[in-house]
Amino acid sequence: MIYRPAKAYINLSSLAHNLRLIKQLAPNSKVLAVIKANGYGHGICRVAQQLSNADGFAVASLDEALLLRQKGFLHRILLLEGLFTAAELPQVLHNRLDLVIHSQYQLEWLLAHRHSVALNVWIKIDTGMHRLGFHPDAVQSVVQSLMESDNSYQLNFMSHFASADELQVHSQAFTQQQIECFKTHCQAWDYKCSLANSAGILHYPESHLDWVRPGILLYGAGVPIKPRHPFKPVMRLESQVIALKWIPAGDFVGYGNRWQAKKDTYVGVIAIGYGDGYPRHAKDGTPVVVNGERVPLIGRVSMDMITVDLSHQVDKVKVGDRAILWGDALLSVDEVAQCADTIGYELLTGITLRVPFIEVNG
Ligand SMILES: *Cc1c(COP(=O)(O)O)cnc(C)c1O
Repeated sequence: MIYRPAKAYINLSSLAHNLRLIKQLAPNSKVLAVIKANGYGHGICRVAQQLSNADGFAVASLDEALLLRQKGFLHRILLLEGLFTAAELPQVLHNRLDLVIHSQYQLEWLLAHRHSVALNVWIKIDTGMHRLGFHPDAVQSVVQSLMESDNSYQLNFMSHFASADELQVHSQAFTQQQIECFKTHCQAWDYKCSLANSAGILHYPESHLDWVRPGILLYGAGVPIKPRHPFKPVMRLESQVIALKWIPAGDFVGYGNRWQAKKDTYVGVIAIGYGDGYPRHAKDGTPVVVNGERVPLIGRVSMDMITVDLSHQVDKVKVGDRAILWGDALLSVDEVAQCADTIGYELLTGITLRVPFIEVNG
């Protein structure tokens, strides 16, 4: 039995809905559903189950891939960062996993290991983000070394956008450059290509190519806060009001006396805090939905609690009333993230172990 009211509801049908929308947006591309980091914090196995219509999955480690294989998923599964150690390679081959190679040392590990089954290799090209990937000028020689090897490889190309989600003119120009660079260096070969993450899918149809790699969109986040869009949030974080009180004008609320009442204020305490994964940096005014209305956070977020101004609900709010922290039609995780100077990704992946996950449908 869990008595604490903080809970994360996972709407399973929203996952399938969001995948359908992505397929409509990129009708000529296969979909590699990105479910790294425990399915962006939603639970990797339940997410994979709902997304079994995807053409493949992408994860960040062999551990995640093996878990999926263990659960019986036969999809293509791509290790986005490739091998961390040479010792992983036999397991990759045995489990028929797809592998990114982004650096020379990984190429050497591949070439040093003789195997009879063909390996799906995704050569990652650094088109300007300067995180992972071979310099575009090195691609020719990477392809050549793999082709000259006695091993059998199926080759693919991929790259990653640095700022496709930022719509300022200079970011758009940068993204266009990345697309150009990628296409220029791939076109010499007939291999499959993958470039677009969620933002690429939404804003750059010319980047869809053979495979799109949506992550955050699958979870119904990472979309502009306005105007309304058709993606549905998958996680709804909820808790309850556990205390109510009037405080006089001039008094403070919470640690460090960050918030001071300008007038008499009806303060509500909600059982959610940074110990649950609610962001400690949420500013005064961060919206919380109580009884179907947005009310402002007041005072610092504590480990187990937050405080909100319920002066407009004096006659209706009671202890035990439901509070929604994000994932409601009135309040997206992206908006809360913005109020805490972060991104929805971080909030979704940051829900802590003490919060129970409850699966719901529709
Ligand atoms: C995480 C990741 C994605 C998905 O990004 P979103 O912004 O969540 O769509 C795609 N490609 C790579 C290489 C990634 O690491």
